[in-house]
Amino acid sequence: MFTSALLKKFQGTATPFYYYDTDLLAQTLSAASKSAEKHDIELHYALKANSNKRILKLIKSAGFGADCVSGNEVKRAADCGFKANKIVFAGVGKSDEEIRFAIKKNIFCFNCESIDELKIINAIAKSENKTANIALRINPNVNAHTHHYITTGLEENKFGINVWELEAALAAIHKCKNVKLIGLHFHVGSQITDLNVFKTLCLKVNEIVQWFTNRNIFIENINLGGGLGVDYYNPDKNAIPNFENYFSLFRKFLTIEPSQKLHLEPGRAIVAQCGSLISSVLFVKKGVQTNFIILDAGMTELIRPALYQSYHKIENLTGAKRKTVLKYDVTGPICESSDCFGKSVELPETKRGDMIAIRTTGAYAESMSLEYNLRNKAKAYLAEDL
Ligand SMILES: *Cc1c(COP(=O)(O)O)cnc(C)c1O
Repeated sequence: MFTSALLKKFQGTATPFYYYDTDLLAQTLSAASKSAEKHDIELHYALKANSNKRILKLIKSAGFGADCVSGNEVKRAADCGFKANKIVFAGVGKSDEEIRFAIKKNIFCFNCESIDELKIINAIAKSENKTANIALRINPNVNAHTHHYITTGLEENKFGINVWELEAALAAIHKCKNVKLIGLHFHVGSQITDLNVFKTLCLKVNEIVQWFTNRNIFIENINLGGGLGVDYYNPDKNAIPNFENYFSLFRKFLTIEPSQKLHLEPGRAIVAQCGSLISSVLFVKKGVQTNFIILDAGMTELIRPALYQSYHKIENLTGAKRKTVLKYDVTGPICESSDCFGKSVELPETKRGDMIAIRTTGAYAESMSLEYNLRNKAKAYLAEDL
């Protein structure tokens, strides 16, 4: 992926920075769109994975809708050209101000996470003389078998309305004249690599939709969230996720009617592989048992390893051809011991000034960046900028 011409360009660029391969992004968007069209699935890109404005404009141009989890994300999506009728808004703690903002924008749908929220949306919609579309976000109690910090669909998680609360939710909707139930929403977790999880979800969703059908309630929209995982170990070999397998699974196991519209909200699967965090080696330190590489990028630019013990492939771009291979703990400069990108990573013998790529950082890196230690925000470059 990193040609020598590209490395030359990197050398003239101050580190650390995020690099986005827009060719790969275009190919990924095209693969996802084609397959979604074939299976009649509407895609809403989850902004929280990467909300870089230029990336968003490319995703919007590929025909995606937007899945937002804050008022500012709704605003960002609208500012980047996503049509209001393609914006959905989820989140377990929407503030009154955020709800009012989204109602005024006439977004497509609130993915409503509790009965109390439903009542608040109703009251605010009423005060604006409007009717707000809502989908009930239901907690299906399906284990995503992913890191426990990115599991969202179990009863122990804070997200969504539990199945045993549905009767009460319907009663509340009946009383609330300024909300309209247009669908159901589910999202069980992120970085899901075992597709059986989605099969289990489909079977649960079939039961829940049937529950509504039995009560003569037609569910027009069924949104199964995001969560498709990517291959952090082989970013070059598996640069584009297998959308066809993923989408066809829903069509195979969901027993919904042709008149019921299916929606998905991929985030990571769209943007993760197109991004790399490019950093320079500040120091190489000999420890008692370990050699340390201290980079000029840290958990402030990529928090996933510190937060979820996640793996990212690390490459020494400058020293790729050196013969001696050593083991290093690859760390950042931040005053936290969790500021470590990988332990015992085999790399060519590494020197001060070498350029390092941390791969698969298009998702949940730039969007999760921090100013901790008063760090400057790292710049982001698209391929065509360099
Ligand atoms: C985070 C999130 C997504 C996207 O998840 P990915 O794992 O990045 O695909 C989709 N929907 C909701 C409601 C989310 O919170």
